[in-house]
Amino acid sequence: MRRELSFEIGPIRPPSEAYSLLLRVTRNCPWNKCLFCHIYKGRRFERRSVEEVKADISAAYEIAQELKALSWRLGSGGDISREVLQHVFSHPYNECFRMVALWLHLGGRNVFLQDANSLVLRTEELSSILRFLKEKFPQVERITSYARSRTIARTKTVEDLKELRSAGLTRLHLGLESGWDFLLDYMKKGVTASQHIEAGQKIMASGIELSEYVILGLGGRRWWKEHARETAKVLNQINPHFIRIRTLMVLPQMPLWEKIERGEFELQSEEEMIVEERLLIEELEAKSYFVSDHILNLLGELEGKLPEEKPKLLGIIDRFLSMSKEEKLNFCLGRRAGIYECLDDMKDPALWSQVEALKHRIEREYPEGVEKAIFKMKEAFL
Ligand code: SF4
Repeated sequence: MRRELSFEIGPIRPPSEAYSLLLRVTRNCPWNKCLFCHIYKGRRFERRSVEEVKADISAAYEIAQELKALSWRLGSGGDISREVLQHVFSHPYNECFRMVALWLHLGGRNVFLQDANSLVLRTEELSSILRFLKEKFPQVERITSYARSRTIARTKTVEDLKELRSAGLTRLHLGLESGWDFLLDYMKKGVTASQHIEAGQKIMASGIELSEYVILGLGGRRWWKEHARETAKVLNQINPHFIRIRTLMVLPQMPLWEKIERGEFELQSEEEMIVEERLLIEELEAKSYFVSDHILNLLGELEGKLPEEKPKLLGIIDRFLSMSKEEKLNFCLGRRAGIYECLDDMKDPALWSQVEALKHRIEREYPEGVEKAIFKMKEAFL
């Protein structure tokens, strides 16, 4: 057993790619200046050569072959069964073996290309990597990546994107964050609203699926209305397949932290961000699937097809907003403590009492109060 076989894995992937094979085609972020982002700070951007990435794909392939051989030895007939998975996770296999084992156990159909902007690679390079990947793993159906709007607006044509689509790239995840030029500039996002629109429209025209990420709370107390309205306007012109919500959370490692400390930027409360989300949804006319698939989003149940399900989404928000102050605090704490998943969970008397007991304990033992404790819990999600 050659357990030293391995390939490079980057630090993050979207929640929807939790069980995908991670393949690193570049290292870190070529921009790395956004005030609200800490992930790649202090790390230098590097392109990986096509040969290097192909060597990683070959390593993943060899690992898959070794796992299949292991499966035969364990009596699973070449399948990466639950027994094979348990064997791998209870023995000293490295994280690449574990990832490939879990990936194959779940069908081995999804791959995510890391890190922050794979589209900085030349189209021919990326296309060659994608084709090699499909050759080694023909069962792969979905290959996705993060990308920046500015890179696509400035360096990729619809034809380039179509070529990547035909080589196997099926979905791009773009950090729109905001559609308001002032805020994009303030947050040093390095992109304009018109570049967001241009990139988004090109991707849609190429047949690649598009997920646009919006950060709730990015405008703070001062600019939340403009942020919500201008973001909706940009999304309405793109009509992405998915609009995915993230909630702003600022850590001391993020440059935005200093602005908060100096009083230049004021964070919204949980409730204020839900009011902002209501305005965003109200103003959306895009035909997109709205998703709240991040643990930091207070109302994770806000999910549905727009425009048909807009009334349902607004109804959930209004239900939260019409609750009493105590109920809202109970829900926020319960959600952040992992006791509630959705508003309906509050109807369960056992869960409600569990949250109330936690609240009383925090009030007794934590001098900074329940809201500060909730903030601390949120920090742990990043
Ligand atoms: S472009 Fe993305 S990864 Fe790079 S600094 Fe901005 S938010 Fe972070």
